[in-house]
Amino acid sequence: MNAAPPLVTRFAPSPNGWLHLGHALSAIIAHDLAKAGGGRFLLRIEDIDGPRSRPELADEFRRDLEWLGLEWDEVPAQSTRLASYAEAAADLKARGLLYPCTCTRSEIEAAGALPGLEGLIYPGTCKHRAPDPSRPAAWRLDAAKALAETGPLVWADDLAGPVTVDLSGLGDVVLVRKDLPASYHLAVTLDDAADAVTLVARGADLFAASHVHRTLQALLGLPVPRWHHHPLLMGEDGEKLAKRRGSPALAERREAGEDGRMLAGQLRLQQLVLGT
Ligand code: GLU
Repeated sequence: MNAAPPLVTRFAPSPNGWLHLGHALSAIIAHDLAKAGGGRFLLRIEDIDGPRSRPELADEFRRDLEWLGLEWDEVPAQSTRLASYAEAAADLKARGLLYPCTCTRSEIEAAGALPGLEGLIYPGTCKHRAPDPSRPAAWRLDAAKALAETGPLVWADDLAGPVTVDLSGLGDVVLVRKDLPASYHLAVTLDDAADAVTLVARGADLFAASHVHRTLQALLGLPVPRWHHHPLLMGEDGEKLAKRRGSPALAERREAGEDGRMLAGQLRLQQLVLGT
């Protein structure tokens, strides 16, 4: 009899801004799901966002998690894994599933791109032309070719139930950035597989991204986790909580002497209200 793989969840913050309450909720949910199932909770620092990444924030994140009373195992940060991203990208390119794109954001806007689930849907300008070698190129996933290769796919979300992969709201997403060997989508999919994550718990703002991640798992032969996209904490203005909208950073509350475990308890209660 094959035993089910052990339950592994993760929290994967990017050190390009302080953690706030919404991050605390995500971390607590991922932590508690792992602990309740006798599994492991991982911390992975997603630090490849070049100029926006501030490595010193990673230490603040560890202090925040400790302050909330969470226990974790830390796995290597993304910046140590660039070779694996390049290898997967080379494989996808060799199979003709990626195409180079030299468009700038303003060119994409000017081409009349429609808004999608994650910003504008790329109108495919570079798909049918030879790239100008003098301009830096990103590499996009050819969604039509990917679908032809994978056939219909489904992924399982704890709250939403079975979801059929549909890339039409996302278009041909970038998998290799102009300045990096991966985009968020490629890096996070490879990392979750490398870290043997079995349950991806994160905010519902990343729900649409899972269509891409499930597609990549199929294309690259990676194990398929379960997902748990939890509802987001909203501010009184109905907007997502973020520091720029007045929600104080966890570090600020910690340094002001607030009790982090008590805050975690309140967030757990709130979770019951949100129905996560
Ligand atoms: N690094 C992402 C963020 O901070 C989260 C990625 C994920 O959970 O998949 O928003």
